Amino acid sequence: LSSKLPDVGTSIFSVMTQLAQEAGAINLAQGFPDYDPPRPLLEALARHVLTPGHQQYAPMPGLPRLREAIAAKTARLYGHLPDAATDITVTSGATEALYAVLAAVVHPGDEVLILEPAYDLYGPAVRLQGGVPVYVPLSLPDFRPDWDRVAAALTPRTRLLMINSPHNPTGAVLTDDDLDTLAALLRDTDTLLLSDEVYEHMVFDGVPHRSVTAHPELRERAFVLSSFGKTYHATGWKVGYCLAPPALSAELRRVHQFVTFSVSTPTQHALADVLPLTGLYDELHAFYQQKRDLFRELLAGTGLRLLQVAGGYFQVADFSTLAPELTDEQFARRLTQETGVAVVPLSAFYHHRHDDKLVRFCFAKQEETLRAAARRLRAER
Ligand code: PMP
Ligand code: GLN
Repeated sequence: LSSKLPDVGTSIFSVMTQLAQEAGAINLAQGFPDYDPPRPLLEALARHVLTPGHQQYAPMPGLPRLREAIAAKTARLYGHLPDAATDITVTSGATEALYAVLAAVVHPGDEVLILEPAYDLYGPAVRLQGGVPVYVPLSLPDFRPDWDRVAAALTPRTRLLMINSPHNPTGAVLTDDDLDTLAALLRDTDTLLLSDEVYEHMVFDGVPHRSVTAHPELRERAFVLSSFGKTYHATGWKVGYCLAPPALSAELRRVHQFVTFSVSTPTQHALADVLPLTGLYDELHAFYQQKRDLFRELLAGTGLRLLQVAGGYFQVADFSTLAPELTDEQFARRLTQETGVAVVPLSAFYHHRHDDKLVRFCFAKQEETLRAAARRLRAER
């Protein structure tokens, strides 16, 4: 069998989670909360699971009442009311949205610009369409885009540019200036934009999330993704959505209908019930900022150097003074198997071998979990 992705192994998130389980380690590797979704959401799901008539296929683009609720949320947060009929598609998590967008717009030979480090599926999913990923490094020390380098990488073959803010794994967030600069760069091109905003409700220190949806010029060429898994501590539900202008949404739906057709019906009803409860997502900034601050405080005596985290739920740390002789993969393995705290090596987010001494911790965990992990990490010293 000739593999379409011969160089790709099992996703680092599966690998580290399995290693954590085998070693009895606290899993700060794969990004998921160890607490449950809000009670009203669980109760809503239970209600809809028990409602006759809510158990069959949902409409292909998503339940109309969920799309209406998403439109209202978007207007409230980003000052733009999308048309629920034409601009919103409910997907099986942001993962399916990413895949379906790429399958919809990337032709063989098209270039897709990816800012690196990047979420692990971006490059392989581009290649599966016959596209050519073109990697532009984010600039150290704060992993911000260098727009001059992006400009230099744009060609007439650049079909799509992928951005992600707040950023996984680095926690960097884009500013208004970034979006204005990007808009100017793309102005006279046919390049589309995919904006992965799954951590939209997790930005810290009073800095607002700058959604591409709020940018009138950029949103005309953009697919904007969100994930209810992140917003409602429900990564196992696998529901997300894509906002895009009608012509782009139509292309996305051509693919979505054949990837999965539609998303679980009772789950969509439950989400439609709670999305109008604005407090549930408004409070996430403070909720996660507190976790970030606690975790950083707890790691203070460990010898790890902590990078800034402006958003998302990951902390990147430099271990070069602790174990300069180890690669990040070796260090991640050692932390998991010997210290008992599983992490992700940052090289998993690069397409080539990368020798920065950086690992990623997920701090979307109960205070007790973070404290227990920190005790183990401090004992390591
Ligand atoms: N994009 C990014 C940047 C992510 O971190 C994740 C979640 N790991 C996804 C997409 C996928 O989201 P979902 O779980 O909704 O499929
Ligand atoms: N997005 C999560 C992370 O970055 C994991 C998603 C997954 O396991 N596929 O850790």
